[in-house]
Parts: sequence; C-alpha cells; structure tokens
Amino acid sequence: MGGFLAYVLIFFIILLIRYFVTAGFFYAFYLKVKKSNTDKKILSQRPLKKEQVKKEIYWSVISSAIFAFFGAVTYWLYLNQFTSIYLDPATYGYWYLPLSLLIVLLLHETYYYWVHRAMHFPKIYKVVHKVHHQSLSTTPWTAFSFHPWESIIEALIVPLILIVVPVNIYVLLFYLILMTFSSMINHLDIEVYPESFRKSAFGKLWIDATHHHYHHKEFNTNYGLYFTFWDKLMGTESRKMDV
Ligand SMILES: [Zn+2]
Ligand SMILES: [Zn+2]
Repeated sequence: MGGFLAYVLIFFIILLIRYFVTAGFFYAFYLKVKKSNTDKKILSQRPLKKEQVKKEIYWSVISSAIFAFFGAVTYWLYLNQFTSIYLDPATYGYWYLPLSLLIVLLLHETYYYWVHRAMHFPKIYKVVHKVHHQSLSTTPWTAFSFHPWESIIEALIVPLILIVVPVNIYVLLFYLILMTFSSMINHLDIEVYPESFRKSAFGKLWIDATHHHYHHKEFNTNYGLYFTFWDKLMGTESRKMDV
C-alpha cells in the first residue's frame, strides 16, 4: 500500500511537470501571437473570463492527481502482468508498432466520442462536463480543466486499452506525448497547422484548434478527440468547418 501511494506521488509530480511545462510553453506562444496584432490565426473573439486561467489551473492540478492514480493503477497492473505492454519492439514485428498506435488511437477516439456525446446530456453535463465548458474561449491551461468525474471517465480507458491491446513501451510513451500535445494544440485558440496540411486528406481527418474551438463555441458540434470521422459519420461536425 505504501509502495502504491509512492507511485501515485511520483506520477503526480511527473504529471504536474508535464502540465506546467507544456501549457506554460504554449501559453507563452499564445500571449506572443495575441499581442502581435495578427488576428489571422486567432480563433475566439471574446476575451477570457475573469480569473479563468486560475480556475483552469486549479481543476487541472486535481485532474493531474486523478491521472496519477490511474497511472499508478496501470503500473501495478503492468507489474502483475495484467497488461499487454511489452518491452522489446521486435516482439510482434516492427510493422506492428505503427499499427498498434493506430488501433489505440481509434479505440480511444471511439470511446471518447460516445462518452463525450453522453456528457452533453443535460443531467450529466451539469455534474460532469460543465467545468470544461466554462472556458468559452480556451487557452493551453484549459487542456486538463475537468471536473474530477470527467477526469475519472477520461482516464479509465487508458488501462483498459492496455489490458487488451499489446503496446510496446515506446509506442505507449509516444501515445502519451501525442495525447498531451494534441490536447494543448486543440485548446490553443490559435490555428498552428498550415493550410496545406489542413486541406490534405489526412489533415481533414485530424482534429486541430479550429475544430475544437467550435466545440467550445457551439457546444453541440465537433465532439471528437484526435479524428473527425465520428463527427462526419454522425453529422455532428460544425458547418463552419466547411468554410
Ligand atoms: Zn464538450
Ligand atoms: Zn475542450
């Protein structure tokens, strides 16, 4: 038990560093662009609410503690051989490494899209998801600004995927870094991807700051996490994305 709590604490410190370093870096960029008078790439026209960033940091620190708990649970599962995490990249062949990443992303996407739709049912929304949507205009600090219930729901899927899908440790690390950066970029409120990428076949499937900006603006569109295909299939993609 003492060992488990030590792991929670270690994960908490790592996740706090992750949050403050990445959000701090993106926020410096955010302030620079906002002050530069080029409104070209800036998405929200409304100002931030009073004390918004402070509240976002408050909720994100609590989220980091919850994610740390799930990190420790996953590590415990790994130590006791309950996960399918493996160390040698050659175990299933190198071709499997990108495929496993794609499988993990697609599973996560599908879980998130449908859970996110459920979180927008008014009764669930009020308790679970309202905190995240209090940020009408987002900042990098919004990335992990969730009510604890939402953090639990969001974290739960990761150990479940890792029990079922064999994932190499380096692929897992890459996936966690991708998760962090995409969350920051999508809440940046500044479109950073070049138009040529956004108009490409892959770019149209990949979620960016513009896509997620419309989720915070319109509430009932653009529910996806990494990919746009569920929104396209279910007709929930914002019409503004066509412009
Ligand atoms: Zn939402
Ligand atoms: Zn958001």
